[in-house]
Amino acid sequence: MSDLVSIFLQLLLFKLVAPVTFRHHRYDDLVRTLYKVHNECPHVTRVYSIGRSVKGRHLYVLEFSDYPGIHEPLEPEVKYVGNMHGNEVLGRELLLQLSEFLCEEFRNRNQRIVRLVEGTRIHILPSMNPDGYEVAAAAQDRDISGYLVGRNNANGVDLNRNFPDLNTYIYYNEKNGGPNHHLPLPDNWKNQVEPETQAVIQWIRSFNFVLSANLHGGAVVANYPYDKSLEHRVRGFRRTANTPTPDDTLFQKLAKVYSYAHGWMHQGWNCGDYFPDGITNGASWYSLSKGMQDFNYLHTNCFEITLELSCDKFPRQEELQREWLGNREALIQFLEQVHQGIKGMVRDENYNNLVDAVISVSGINHDVTSGDHGDYFRLLLPGTYTVTATAPKFDPETVSVTVGPGEPKLVNFQLKRSTSPAAPKRRGANSGHRGRVLPKKVQPRAARKKEMMMKQSQRVPA
Ligand SMILES: [Zn+2]
Repeated sequence: MSDLVSIFLQLLLFKLVAPVTFRHHRYDDLVRTLYKVHNECPHVTRVYSIGRSVKGRHLYVLEFSDYPGIHEPLEPEVKYVGNMHGNEVLGRELLLQLSEFLCEEFRNRNQRIVRLVEGTRIHILPSMNPDGYEVAAAAQDRDISGYLVGRNNANGVDLNRNFPDLNTYIYYNEKNGGPNHHLPLPDNWKNQVEPETQAVIQWIRSFNFVLSANLHGGAVVANYPYDKSLEHRVRGFRRTANTPTPDDTLFQKLAKVYSYAHGWMHQGWNCGDYFPDGITNGASWYSLSKGMQDFNYLHTNCFEITLELSCDKFPRQEELQREWLGNREALIQFLEQVHQGIKGMVRDENYNNLVDAVISVSGINHDVTSGDHGDYFRLLLPGTYTVTATAPKFDPETVSVTVGPGEPKLVNFQLKRSTSPAAPKRRGANSGHRGRVLPKKVQPRAARKKEMMMKQSQRVPA
């Protein structure tokens, strides 16, 4: 064989082989890739399913941890969710890339990745809507890529408008008093949501997640809660009112960590839209009801943001490598953000773990609770805080804590059994993690009307 022919063949081979890792993955391919990563890193990964889609496809999660399948006390749980809108596919591919990257770098003893995997339990759900994806990918193959083809699940439902609306209750409580966290699910919630949503709700109730991101496309911006506008005040074209959570400065920082570690998100001008610092409060962009990030914040201990990662919802395969390089550092840095603020154990005098103890920070009207192992995690920016732990039948304990910019501060609580007969006052009254349901009562009529107005004004979203 002549040299020229051999070079030509090698080039051809390279062209055929090289892009293998940067390609779109249909469902079977996605499942194979998850198991491939698991086989390459069997001691620090686990594949599990959280349920099935309408069409029966498993919603697979790849977990990274030095003890897969086990919650180690004081080791935070963090998650990434991709492809909730079936036609927004970059997140799905980035999460597969991230999985391969974490595995490979762990094997290479990259100290940063070893530290991350050993100190964090990472859950990656590359596709929350595998049915929608197949519709979108098939349309793509036939070049009939409508803007919304494959967005919804197989029942035609937008999964990011399908979570129980807890905002109405929190806005009511903020005004009139009432629990500021772990708002209970409505009666019959299972009958009101799609199978994919139900699977995710059960998932986020069964792990004590601390931090999360939900990966979308159609814009380039890091979007933080609330998504649902408190007031429908129109400020110019399709703008609604900024609706901050009590953790607004923290959420802004989390969003900025992503946008500034991202190749171009922080520049602000993307896809013909402008967002200062590449971040936005969800409601001030456009209001949406029953979204996943608000639900995480209002029903669990998890702080979730929504990442819009590409102008084109279904980028060409050739762009995947550039997108990966633009997102890689941001995806890692965001995971590392779970290690800030305070964390610790809540125990009684006999060192028994106290589950569902409430941790309140004065000045921030949003409490978190201890998990099944008695450990709690409270993300906080650097500063000095007054922190109180309470549990039914125990006296509250209050401490002053100074949080630095680095590692989280360890703050343990040992609560004494209350001697007074009256039950201790507990800010988040009916706030138990599990199972409590809302009284039939409330959704004030004004709020219901407002919601209808919002629905009418929603633009076709990212
Ligand atoms: Zn989306």
